[in-house]
Amino acid sequence: MPLTEFEIIKKYFTHQPINSSVVTAVGDDCAIVSAVAGKRLLMSMDTLVAGRHFPESATPYQIGTRALCTSLSDLAAMGARPLWFTLGLTIPSVSEDWLREFSRGLFSIATPFKLDLIGGDTTQGPLSITIQVHGEADAEDVLKRDGAEAGDKIFVTGNLGDGAAGLAILQNKIQRHQREKDYLIDRFYAPMPQIDAGQALRGLASSAIDISDGLLADAEHIAVASQVSLVINVEQLPIHPCLKSCDQQTYLSWALAGGDDYQLLFTVNNKQLSAVYSLIERGELHATEVGRVVNTEVGVECYLHGAAYTIEHKGYQHFAP
Ligand code: ADP
Ligand code: MG
Repeated sequence: MPLTEFEIIKKYFTHQPINSSVVTAVGDDCAIVSAVAGKRLLMSMDTLVAGRHFPESATPYQIGTRALCTSLSDLAAMGARPLWFTLGLTIPSVSEDWLREFSRGLFSIATPFKLDLIGGDTTQGPLSITIQVHGEADAEDVLKRDGAEAGDKIFVTGNLGDGAAGLAILQNKIQRHQREKDYLIDRFYAPMPQIDAGQALRGLASSAIDISDGLLADAEHIAVASQVSLVINVEQLPIHPCLKSCDQQTYLSWALAGGDDYQLLFTVNNKQLSAVYSLIERGELHATEVGRVVNTEVGVECYLHGAAYTIEHKGYQHFAP
């Protein structure tokens, strides 16, 4: 006999809460939490559709990790501390193997990031996963897109292009040795949310965003929100050595427009620069300076060793013509 909806929820999605703020998690009509007075609550929702946000060949474990990593990335981008999440799960049929592995993938991310699953909805239909994450921050610490000013320096965390290269491997567009393959596929399915970086940048970054659609597309969001121009020096982009065996145009287009990296792009005012540099020097923040903010026409400009550099495809967009 396949499990009923309530048996599924009890067996795979009910855990002992980590946060003392959880009063009632899964089981009643609503979850109950106690929010801390004076703190800001931050919420973000993401839906993953099979075949669109992950290849049909993804394992349930990989779907679980990717769903939560990409959702948590939005909390990272705003400097929030993760608290709770809800899960809207639509599955075509009940497979215990699938549920066990999906749940294992999900909690392999939720537990280390101290995120409690407090509720959700379980329905039958084409595979789709919706996650809403909740986090908290002090009002003055929230990192937003609209604070960049001319004179600020631009940084990115981690490496860029790994997610797109991982996807290219999954789509058999490039070949790699097993070790590099494993690394890149892992970057696609488990892009570690930059929660620590987001927290470290509270009070230091003038603006921040997570790079989910590609550096250029997401830099454009900061440019528009802040009404400034972002100048990116392409030769400064942090690229993992294993991408550099492809031709330069290919790995640069992954880094600039690939999406799926879930690193942070942030800007820093000159007054905070030395604090950010010392975090980097002490190894407490993995970030690279890649450009500066100027006061010309709103938008993003790229230069490769001083010469204007353009690429055709700027980033992923749903409903693009
Ligand atoms: P209701 O019919 O009152 O909306 P449900 O039957 O949908 O409640 O869900 C019962 C309980 O299980 C609720 O507490 C709900 O939040 C929780 N729940 C349902 N699906 C999930 C899920 N996929 N993950 C976590 N909790 C879930
Ligand atoms: Mg319901």
